[in-house]
Amino acid sequence: MRSTLDKLARILTMEREQGCPDRVVIGGLGKFLPFWIKEAQQGAQTAHLQQAVRNIILLLEGYGQRERQARAQAVEQALAILAEARQRLEEEGEAAPADPAGPAEAQPAAGAAQAAAAPPEKPVTAPAPPAPVPSGPDLDQPVTRAHGVSATYAKRLERLGVRTVRDLLYLLPRRYDDYSTLKRIDQLEYGEEVTLVATVWDTKTRQARNGIHVTTCILADTSGTIEVTWFNQPYLASRLRPGREIVISGKVEEYLGRLTFQSPVWEPLEREQLHTGRLVPVYPLTEGIGARWLRRTIKSALDTYAAHIPDPLPADLRRRQQLMGLGEALRSVHFPRHAEELAQARRRLCFDEFFLIQLGMLRKRRAWQEREGYPLPPGPLVERFLAALPFQLTGAQRRALEHISADLARATPMSRLLQGDVGSGKTVVALAAMLQAVAAGHQAALMAPTEILAEQHFETVCRLIGELTLVRAPGGPEEPVRVALLTGSLGTRDKAEIRQAIGLGQVDIIIGTHALIQEGVQFASLGLVVVDEQHRFGVAQRSTLRQKGDAARVPHLLVMSATPIPRSLALTMYGDLDLSVIDELPPNRQQVITRLISPRERERAYHFVRTQVKEGHQAFIICPLVEESEKTEAKAATDEYERLQEEVFPDLRLALLHGRMKGEEKDAIMAAFRNGEYDILVSTAVVEVGIDVPNATVMMIEGANRFGLAQLHQFRGRVGRGQAQSYCLLVSDSSADEALQRLQIVERTSDGFALAEEDLRLRGPGQFFGTRQSGLPDLRVATLSDGHVLEEARRAARELFEADPDLAQPAHQLLRRQVLGFWNEDAEPN
Ligand code: ADP
Ligand code: MG
Repeated sequence: MRSTLDKLARILTMEREQGCPDRVVIGGLGKFLPFWIKEAQQGAQTAHLQQAVRNIILLLEGYGQRERQARAQAVEQALAILAEARQRLEEEGEAAPADPAGPAEAQPAAGAAQAAAAPPEKPVTAPAPPAPVPSGPDLDQPVTRAHGVSATYAKRLERLGVRTVRDLLYLLPRRYDDYSTLKRIDQLEYGEEVTLVATVWDTKTRQARNGIHVTTCILADTSGTIEVTWFNQPYLASRLRPGREIVISGKVEEYLGRLTFQSPVWEPLEREQLHTGRLVPVYPLTEGIGARWLRRTIKSALDTYAAHIPDPLPADLRRRQQLMGLGEALRSVHFPRHAEELAQARRRLCFDEFFLIQLGMLRKRRAWQEREGYPLPPGPLVERFLAALPFQLTGAQRRALEHISADLARATPMSRLLQGDVGSGKTVVALAAMLQAVAAGHQAALMAPTEILAEQHFETVCRLIGELTLVRAPGGPEEPVRVALLTGSLGTRDKAEIRQAIGLGQVDIIIGTHALIQEGVQFASLGLVVVDEQHRFGVAQRSTLRQKGDAARVPHLLVMSATPIPRSLALTMYGDLDLSVIDELPPNRQQVITRLISPRERERAYHFVRTQVKEGHQAFIICPLVEESEKTEAKAATDEYERLQEEVFPDLRLALLHGRMKGEEKDAIMAAFRNGEYDILVSTAVVEVGIDVPNATVMMIEGANRFGLAQLHQFRGRVGRGQAQSYCLLVSDSSADEALQRLQIVERTSDGFALAEEDLRLRGPGQFFGTRQSGLPDLRVATLSDGHVLEEARRAARELFEADPDLAQPAHQLLRRQVLGFWNEDAEPN
């Protein structure tokens, strides 16, 4: 093995001396390497050597294709690894005969003649091995390729969503323990989190009467001594030998009047510190995966891969945006040296995601617009419809409708987002658009996320359309506009009949759920699709819609959302859509009275709920958000429901709604609540989507401080839909000033957009990008960022897209691959 190592060392030394021309070996290093690798892999007996060989392979991959400077760097690093490996071999005293390449010769490279002779003859004459030129290490290989990850560990890692090396590198810390403040023993203060470098004086282990092992260790530095205790780690005694220097991090405790540490984290001083003495990453863990193991494994993966990850962002873009390199960012996000470095690392990683989102969106938008839709010119039908309404459109409604109407008139298919607060009158606008399609001789579909919402829309649409008629053919009779409701609860026969009618063009407006309309319904000629509440209707679904309609044309698309999202975010999350905003409520809307109440006033709130119920109204009680999982959340909600039913409202009818219930189950409960079969609906956040229960007058939100402002506003929108005065009660389980101030904003403001902007300012875009809602590809880091990064990435993506929409330039190849991968596109978007 020695000679194997030396062989490569000689060549690399020569290479370095000549300025890395890649001509030291005939045919270039790329020809020689495969043979060396084979030899080295056979010879490497220890884990350390195997790792060294792997590292060298990674370092020298694609050597010939690199710039000289990059080559020089790789050579330096490879030589360092070789030297180290060589030294380890010496120390461990490898038996010479084990070396397949003959007796060891340890002379350094001495001259050209010797060097030229050094590589075996084989490489020069052998046929060139197929040498694909990967542009970097393959991060998509199974995580077992990472050092120290056995198949068993890989299985466990899967529970953390880690399957590949890339997943491992992107398994980001949830938070960091700041153990970076080093203290002397005489500076310690009770209660603080600190790190101490000290020498072990004495270690004792004893077994307490209850069977617990107690290890007591006296540590000393130049300023004093301190006693430290560990429990149930008897093996520590042999590790914490007197004289050993260690680093401990933890909280300063007090015992019998003296300062002490109890079970602090520790590690030897001589090792690079991963667990102490720094900003220590804290990862999500799972059974069988310990914090230390994970830190070490990620560190080692970073050491192996980070330096060699090619950066998909073009260098000039990186320079302009002052972004860290990708490898460095990954390294720093796991093991930041200080807070500023961490901030920069996060900024870079978030930029990547936003940038990919935006590029993908721009491409989808273009793909949509390259197809053709039906031009649907405005006609008198819409005017008659508007004239027959019992109210006038608001200014904002009129402006939105003008944009939509102009879009529809063009053959380029519309893709537009219609945003407006709950009750701002989006449905009326959408219906006017649908009638424009109908008047032009085509069909329109309205898709809702749930059956009840579809039914609700159906009722509204029928009511608003009233007696409206149209003339279908010149000189023909006046005929009513035909509306059909297509739901899963229809009988098979009815369903088949409606489908047939849709196919024959005997229905003008079809209302149903997303699923139902997307599943094989054949339209005679679908001119416009309106999608309500797009949370559950992601980019992917929008894309499949493009395959709908008839072969040649795609329908125009209007997406309605009642979630006020700040403009910059909307432009990113729905970057494939144009944006219309209804930012004005119809006149004479009742204000929901909102009150922030303290937990101590909860009884009074219950009393108030009871009074409202006695008056014949209904109430919602929202349970606090539980971050861990939907399962624990469902459990918490169930407990709260039982408590309320048994102890607080035993005489009232309560129902429970949570995210672990099946869709039909949820629908059934909502329907029953709407029909007045229950007085109080206890629910998790799932109730958010726009169901109308006009008789509900109280929305009581427990743990209100845990929700975003925009979301609280959504909840509030569930009441105040009828005639009676309605109320929103916010109960905070935190009395921190900051929490209360946020909630006071909700108390004061009824403008959803203002609240959303405030949310963005206070909490960053994270919550808006929650995977539960966004329908975007998996985001790993976006939640860590702030609004500025979003804006920067959006601008940068636009510029790049304008310059190179197909990402065809050589400098954009990696980026292109990433965009396709991120968006799960095999080839071009279609
Ligand atoms: P959204 O879908 O935006 O929540 P809707 O379209 O369901 O709102 O409208 C809420 C209610 O307000 C409906 O009863 C609708 O008929 C009514 N409405 C809509 N526009 C106006 C308006 N300009 N003036 C008065 N009432 C309106
Ligand atoms: Mg609505």
